[in-house]
Amino acid sequence: MSSPTPRQAEHVTTTLRRRTALDWSFDRRSGLVYVSLKGEIDENARLGELARRLDGKVVLDLADVRRINSAGVREWVNFIRELPKVEEISLARCSPTITNQLNMIFNFRGKARVESFYAPYVCEHCDVEVDRLVNVEEHFPDRDPAKVPSFRCEHCGAELTFDDIPERYFSFILQL
Ligand SMILES: [Zn+2]
Repeated sequence: MSSPTPRQAEHVTTTLRRRTALDWSFDRRSGLVYVSLKGEIDENARLGELARRLDGKVVLDLADVRRINSAGVREWVNFIRELPKVEEISLARCSPTITNQLNMIFNFRGKARVESFYAPYVCEHCDVEVDRLVNVEEHFPDRDPAKVPSFRCEHCGAELTFDDIPERYFSFILQL
């Protein structure tokens, strides 16, 4: 076999870069494994590798997961279902992308608890869109999707308007 030409070598590099569309960072503190995921979940997300590194009590921070495709959903559902060394797992700061999946895919969270998630709001006075962090225990103590959490605009103090359909965006609350 001949050695690769520079053009072929460049192609290999590009492929490897595409395979790391999802990055994660670990932080072990006070008996918890805190894992922040960042990027896109697709067929190259290496979730099996992540699963092997998880044990004990785990929090997955999903604030920076921007996209997930249908292959990614399949990978994720398998991942969250098979975590043999994990005792407890919760999903924190779920991005709107992840929250939409929680609503659409019946077994998306598997055995995980949902701790908090982002919800879309607008300030009609300032004409800005803003995602606000909703804490399940604090904002949905009775698990009623129709009781939309209220927030105020950081700039003008006006009450923000929820920018989706509550019965759709918060429907997963019913299953928690
Ligand atoms: Zn405002």
